[in-house]
Parts: sequence; C-alpha cells; structure tokens
Amino acid sequence: VADAAFDLKAHIRGIPDFPKPGILFYDISTLLRHGPAWKAAMDLLAERIRPARPTLLAGIESRGFLMAAPMALELGLGFIMLRKPRKLPGATIGYDYDLEYGTDRIEMQADAVKPGDRVVLLDDLLATGGTMAAGVELLRRGGAEVPMVATLIELTFLNGRARIDAPVETLVAYD
Ligand code: AMP
Repeated sequence: VADAAFDLKAHIRGIPDFPKPGILFYDISTLLRHGPAWKAAMDLLAERIRPARPTLLAGIESRGFLMAAPMALELGLGFIMLRKPRKLPGATIGYDYDLEYGTDRIEMQADAVKPGDRVVLLDDLLATGGTMAAGVELLRRGGAEVPMVATLIELTFLNGRARIDAPVETLVAYD
C-alpha cells in the first residue's frame, strides 16, 4: 500500500561525473535492490497512472522496462517495448530525434499498438524530455492515444515537460 511518508529520495543515489564529467547521474539501482522501497514507489506511481485509464503501457529501453513491466502487472495491463534501432524482430516503425550532438532513433513493432489503444509511456527519469517526446510521437504514429507519460524522477531545471505534448506525472523532482 502506498505510504505518503515514504522517502523515495533516500533510495536514489546521485553519482557525479557519470557517464561524463559534469553529469550527475541518478542511479535507481539502490531502489531496485530494496524490495519494500521499490514496491512503495510502484504503488505510488500506479495511483498517479490509474486516472488516465490506460489500456496498455509502454516502456523505453532499458530502464523504462524496469518501470513499465511491473507496472503493467500491477495494473493488470499489457506492456510494449520501445527499443533502440535493430533490436526488434519483424516489421517495425521508428522515429528519429535530435540530440545535443547528432540524432537518435527509437523503434516499436509495427503491430504493437492499434487505433483506440490508450498507452501510458514510462521511463525512469525525465531530463530534457527528448526521449519521452520521441516515444509519444512514435506511439501516436502507430495510432495510439497517449493520455499520460510518467517517470520516477524529474530534473526540473531542464524543463523537459515543456517538450512533451501530454500530461506528465513524476514522483520526485531535483533542481
Ligand atoms: P532526456 O531525453 O534528456 O529526457 O533523457 C532521458 C533519458 O536519459 C532517460 O532514459 C534517462 O534514463 C536518461 N538520463 C538522462 N539524464 C540522466 C541522469 N542525470 N541520470 C540518470 N539517467 C539519465
């Protein structure tokens, strides 16, 4: 059961200069290895997601899978994978997006969503919002509605939610 007094930040570790100098990496490994804390975080996020009435969840490779798969079980829903290029078998559709330097691409299986699906998209952390915005775009190209995106962590100083054309739910913010 979700505990309002649960201190999620106590279970997240900030590691400086990873993967490169100047980046403070928010490491959720310490949350994932603590069973009660992980469960409490999933319960809290589940209560935020339920009102969006999803029919399906999606996760972004790879830590997004660690959010979306257990959340799908908790909500009794199915789950689809948005992956890095050339990982998925069969017909795929993709979306290319700009990074600070260069471009990136995410893909999903062409039959993963169908019109009428209401897909909530999950990842572990919202930074610039570029990854999430690309995921929303890809799901909509597949014909799905995206009534919400959700993450555990939001880096508010990057204002990523301004880039996302959907309601954004996050559990903890760092600035
Ligand atoms: P963005 O597209 O800038 O919103 O970046 C979000 C993606 O990059 C997520 O999949 C995160 O897991 C990862 N990410 C970005 N910044 C960090 C950070 N400071 N700590 C941990 N993961 C990060």
